[in-house]
This record gives sequence, C-alpha cells and structure tokens, in this order.
Amino acid sequence: MDVKSPYLHPEYETLSREEISKLQTERLRETFEHCKNVPFYAQKFKEMNLSVEDINSPEDVRKLPFTTKQDLRDTYPFGLAAVPLEKCVRLHSSSGTTGNPTVILHTQRDLDEWANQVARNLWMVGLRPSDVFQNSSGYGMFTGGLGFQYGAERLGMLTVPAAAGNSLRQIKFMKDFGTTAVHAVPSYLTRLYEVMQEQGVDPRKDTKLRVFAIGAEPHSEEQRKRIEDMFGVKAYNSFGMSEMCGPGVGFECQEQNGLHFWEDYYIVEIVDPDTLEPVPDGEIGELVLTSLRREAMPLIRYRTRDLTRVLGRTCPCGRNHVRLDRMKGRSDDMMVLRGVNIFPIQIEKILMQFSELASNYLITLTTDNDNDNMTVEVELAEMMDDYARLQSLTKAVTRALKDEILLTPIVKLVSKGSLPVSEGKAVRVVDKRKVYQ
Ligand code: AMP
Ligand code: ZN
Repeated sequence: MDVKSPYLHPEYETLSREEISKLQTERLRETFEHCKNVPFYAQKFKEMNLSVEDINSPEDVRKLPFTTKQDLRDTYPFGLAAVPLEKCVRLHSSSGTTGNPTVILHTQRDLDEWANQVARNLWMVGLRPSDVFQNSSGYGMFTGGLGFQYGAERLGMLTVPAAAGNSLRQIKFMKDFGTTAVHAVPSYLTRLYEVMQEQGVDPRKDTKLRVFAIGAEPHSEEQRKRIEDMFGVKAYNSFGMSEMCGPGVGFECQEQNGLHFWEDYYIVEIVDPDTLEPVPDGEIGELVLTSLRREAMPLIRYRTRDLTRVLGRTCPCGRNHVRLDRMKGRSDDMMVLRGVNIFPIQIEKILMQFSELASNYLITLTTDNDNDNMTVEVELAEMMDDYARLQSLTKAVTRALKDEILLTPIVKLVSKGSLPVSEGKAVRVVDKRKVYQ
C-alpha cells in the first residue's frame, strides 16, 4: 500500500487490531466525557449510573445508551449540540418525510477531519493530485456534494463541481476537462451511459474516465458490475450518512471485498434489531455507529437502520479496519407483502442478470380486490417488437423473481426512458396499498 499520502495520520490506516482497540478505548472515553455537555446524554448517563471508569475497551460501548433518529427529531434543531453554537460553522439537514427534519452540526475541526476522511478513501482507490475529479451529485444539504468536494480538494485533485443532472453538460465536462474520476449515485450513472449512447459517445475511447465512487443508495453487486462494464471504469462502493458527517464513513479498497469502515473515527456494532444484542460476525444485523471524533454533535450508538454484516477484520490491502458487506437495505425499506419480507435489492439483483433489461426499474405495491400485489416495471435495454420474444422474456423474469422472493409479481417490460429518473437517490418503491387498521 502507498502510505505516503499527505493526509493527517495516514499511519492510522494500517494500525494492528490491538492498536485500533487501544485507540478506540481512548477516543470512546473522550467522547463519553464530551457528551456530558449534551443534556440528553448527561441525563441518560446519570440515570444509568455510568462514569468514564466503566469504559476500558471498545466493547464497553455496549454499556452506553442507544441514540435513534427519533431522538434527533425530538431535540430538533440544536438540542444535541455538544459545543456552543458560535463554535459551529455549518449544518446539514435531512428533510424528514414525517415530522421534523434532522439537523447535524459541524465545527471547523469536524469539517477538516471529514475532508481528510474522504481524501483518505479517494487515495485508497488510487486517485492522486494529477486526477480530475467530477462530482456529479447534488450539492446543498445532501452531504455527497460538499463532502466529496472538500475531500477531493484536500487530496489535491482538480475538482469539477458539476452537481447532479444535465447529462449533456456532464459529458461535455468529462471530455473537455479530461475527467478521470466521478462521484455519483449509481442509478444516475446508468442513465448517463444511455445518454452517451444516444450521443454516440464511447466512454472508453472518448473520455479518460478510470474511477467511480458510487454510493448514497443501496445497489447490488450486479449493478456495480454493469456500471463497470458499461464505462470500462472501476466503481468503488462509498457509504456515508449525514449523522456521521456524510460520505467517508466506509469505502471499498482496490480489493473490492467489502467496505472498510474507519475504526479510528467510529465504533462499529452489528446488532439484532429486535433484541439489540450483538450478532456474530457474518450474520446480518443493524449497523450501529458511535462517532469517536465528532466535536459539534457526537452520537453514541446511533441506530442507522441499515442492514449489513461483518465480512472480516483484515484485508490483503494491509488495512485492518473492519470490512462490512454492501448494505442489504434499510429496515425501513423492507416490504412485507403477504407475510413475506422483501428488499428492493433482491429484485434488482435478479433484474440485472438479464442482459435484455436496462437498469431502471420501479416496484409498485397495490391492493386489488383485497389482495396485495407487486408490480415490477423495468426498462428494456433495446426496443423489442417481437411479441413472442417479449412474452417469453416477461415469463422468464417473472419466474426468476418468484424463485428469489417466493411470490409472483406482475412484470411489465417498458421501453427505455419511460420510467422516472430522480436526480438524487433513486425512488425504487411506491406503496399504494390500503392500510387496514
Ligand atoms: P443521508 O444521510 O441522507 O445521506 O442518507 C444516508 C443513508 O443512505 C444511509 O443510512 C444508507 O441507508 C444510505 N446509503 C448511503 N451510502 C450507501 C451505500 N453505499 N450503499 C447503500 N446504502 C447507502
Ligand atoms: Zn482492503
């Protein structure tokens, strides 16, 4: 591994497991003390009779209380601040579909360390100051914009803050500025490729693209492979969430064998979402994160709702930070249809196995004659006039989906470009079912 990266503490990337454990214990103790500045935590620590002496290993985090998104809403906007507001220099807010949105505060140190974290990831996948980095994700409150912007600048790349949408302009920038790396949500990149095809642009010949950072939304391994094959580019999975700064929390290395979650910045737990007890490595559970360096708004045992599992704690790349599997989805995304639990990503995985299908799809849940039904609409890669072919393809897709989700959806193959594309995270499920009380 190239450890000559000029960022703060590059040596932290290659710590041994014992060193990680020692550092986490120190930082958890600091975080505990710092959280006493937040009445919400101070009160809980008092009720639970906790003191810093109770923390002697990273596992002692289990003695501490959980924090939920609801706690962030209840204390909206500034109730979880651990420093006076005059020390804060930025906030990011996520719009809640119900109730109050949530607010995340940052001090200058938080922003600096966040930029280092993102820079560390970009360096890890082989990007260097000579690269040209185009950030094709939304700016503003969405942390994928400013988060990658500052990280890419910190690395020293020439940055192109293209923001989301306007595919023709994106392609022009890529060609004119010699863009080598792009950050975008995966659903957008498949759309961008379609526009390139329409414009007669061959990304392999007409651009210098070589690295993508894709994330912010769940996507399957099949989707990643498709993107890599379309563009002839390596696509690395990038995980982040506003509550933990934003992008940079977890990122794949060049081995592409899971996301390294940075344990000098976070304590990672995977728990059973019902019992809240830890699950063994390899088993799927809810990701719970404790921030270890956040100054403005540290969060203890934050229940992310994301479902994943531990793949390993060593890696051929030389980094020993825990490797997590790509997110299976969020527990909130799970559809329960006729008693069966289904994640959108299961559907995507199957659809992507058919080369006749494009990457855009939409799942609609309805109640018809008191029965709950699922309709899967998916775009065709090419026009298909042959009715018999269309019918046999529809049948094959239906059968493959049934084998995966154990019930039979209504499959509709639609022409390319006919389903909606969002500029930000893709909307994959529309639930129109009647709710019976
Ligand atoms: P936000 O804070 O609005 O940016 O949303 C964060 C959420 O986006 C996470 O909790 C995940 O549910 C999702 N997310 C972010 N990155 C990924 C990724 N690489 N794979 C799957 N889901 C992701
Ligand atoms: Zn690795």
